[in-house]
Amino acid sequence: MTVATKETLGFQAEVKQLLQLMIHSLYSNKEIFLRELISNASDAADKLRFEGIAHPDWYGDDPELKIKVEFDKASKTVTISDNGIGMSREEVINNLGTIARSGTKEFFAKLSGDQQKDAALIGQFGVGFYSGFIVADRITVETRRAGLPPSDGVRWESDGSGVFTIETIDRPQRGTSITLHLREGEDDFLNSYKLKSIIRKYSDHISLPIQMRKEEWDEDKKEQVIRDEFEGINQSSALWARNKTEITEDQYNEFYKHLSHDYENPLCYSLNRVEGRSEFTQLLYVPARAPFDLWDRNKRGGIKLYVKRIFIMDDAEKLMPMYLRFVTGVIDSADLPLNVSREILQESRDIKVIRESSTKRVLSMLEELASSEDEGKKEKYRTFWTQFGQVLKEGVGEDQANQERIFKLLRFASTHTDSSEQTVSLAEYVSRMKEGQDKIYYVTGESFNAAKNSPHLEIFRKKGVEVLLLSDRVDEWMLSFITEFDGKQLASIAKGDLDLGSLSDEKEKKEHEETEKQFKDLVDRMKKVLENKAKDVRVTFRLTDSPACLIADENELSGNLLRMLKAAGQNAPDMKPILEINPEHPLLSKLKDDDQKFDEWTNLLFDQALLAEGGQLNDPAGFVKRMNHLLLN
Ligand code: ADP
Ligand code: MG
Repeated sequence: MTVATKETLGFQAEVKQLLQLMIHSLYSNKEIFLRELISNASDAADKLRFEGIAHPDWYGDDPELKIKVEFDKASKTVTISDNGIGMSREEVINNLGTIARSGTKEFFAKLSGDQQKDAALIGQFGVGFYSGFIVADRITVETRRAGLPPSDGVRWESDGSGVFTIETIDRPQRGTSITLHLREGEDDFLNSYKLKSIIRKYSDHISLPIQMRKEEWDEDKKEQVIRDEFEGINQSSALWARNKTEITEDQYNEFYKHLSHDYENPLCYSLNRVEGRSEFTQLLYVPARAPFDLWDRNKRGGIKLYVKRIFIMDDAEKLMPMYLRFVTGVIDSADLPLNVSREILQESRDIKVIRESSTKRVLSMLEELASSEDEGKKEKYRTFWTQFGQVLKEGVGEDQANQERIFKLLRFASTHTDSSEQTVSLAEYVSRMKEGQDKIYYVTGESFNAAKNSPHLEIFRKKGVEVLLLSDRVDEWMLSFITEFDGKQLASIAKGDLDLGSLSDEKEKKEHEETEKQFKDLVDRMKKVLENKAKDVRVTFRLTDSPACLIADENELSGNLLRMLKAAGQNAPDMKPILEINPEHPLLSKLKDDDQKFDEWTNLLFDQALLAEGGQLNDPAGFVKRMNHLLLN
């Protein structure tokens, strides 16, 4: 097959949409194009370093990897060149004509109209190259892939309006040059001072040299002249390899943005060199904001693995447990072989050590925020919990070794604060426990409001006993791994017999027994009526306002969990709840006195109780009919 030397191809529909957006709405943050193109050049160098391990000949006589930024006032162009991996013709068509990464739909859905935020999204969604069109009305890319002959060079060109041309060219040097033909009015960028300051601002952490031509004052011409010689603009050493005392907060933050494509600063970070049997450096960041794909099961971790400064792989998921998948950072190992593969990582002892150490680091960072007296840090922990609390909860089941530490990091909504924000720790709960209270009480519900208004809470509210309000999807699962904290058992208030321990007094107990006797007949009749629906019917003293509620047996799954299992398409066991009735409620007297409609009243009570806990009626139409009938008589 012969390849036409020059052809014109259309962009993928999404790219067209994206280009429209770039050009027409992102003009307030133009300078990010340089960060994106330098970031791509740096990635290209990383790829060559990695692939070059197996192909040392690819370096030829050009072994020093670098990035050059040049401008030309006459032709109004800015050019970013690298001698990294380069691209073949096919790669150019794929990489610069389509959006490869999944999540494009989410990208368009996320656009807020806020230019700064939208601009940041471009990086996050892997569409950085196209940002060149913010300042350029034409882009020319010339490239040759490492390992291919000079005759396999490629030129790509587009004005961003819908099509691009591609042709085969001769290109003596390896790597990629991207030339931006600046739009009218963008002459600002034809200035070395301006370009240098953008590079220092966004790209100082890039570990290879970024160079520009030297400029000097010419006394004869009385003007700045540009020389052939190049000079370095950035520090060009891997940030994590520098001396801690020489790294500024800004540098940590910019490096984080480069790694994560986030536009906000991280919540916290930690840089450590670990020596001993395993030797490695870890630079770990906790973001301030959950990425759009936090719940994507295929998402891997945000850790980049390096071996002795050589980039090995992205998303090395073995380096961080699943429940810390929001952590971004770099691990640089001194022990792993350069040809390490994902398979080797599975079994490596070194990896196990790194993973354990990194896990502990992250937990320490979080503990520091969580336990701090400093208002700023406290606020950070609240932000963290709002963004990632649900993920951290997975750790309770996933990481038994650190369970105790994770318990202390958990935060809950509670009847004490009555706010949906989760701020109460188990320790705080325990410190507020009532005299005679020996359990940590909680209730689960489908939503915060369902939990907060649960009838089961009535007696606890009356007695002023705090109850944790749990409504996250992971809560039921998580609870199966926490049986106690600080020697106190965790107890669902919607399960089993109500046992307030020494929170209720002898007199009360006597009265209760009395009432139970009085209601025995009624209860037996109700049991008959509800034979198919309820496992049991009994009198309760946990209600003050509601006529009835449903309870799960001590060792059975709660109604909430059963509903979740069913919703998830799982085979949920068929468990019948226990109906508990409030003897003080006027509806119960009605029931006692109305023989004719006894069945209807009983069923209504049951259905009400089911609705109140967020359950679904088996026969909603029948319920409505019954209720109307009772209302009219
Ligand atoms: P991302 O960098 O997030 O993948 P970009 O839109 O910035 O998304 O770049 C798209 C793709 O184009 C890159 O993944 C890479 O394969 C290719 N690419 C861009 N610039 C270069 C370059 N300088 N050298 C080699 N490949 C490049
Ligand atoms: Mg990029």
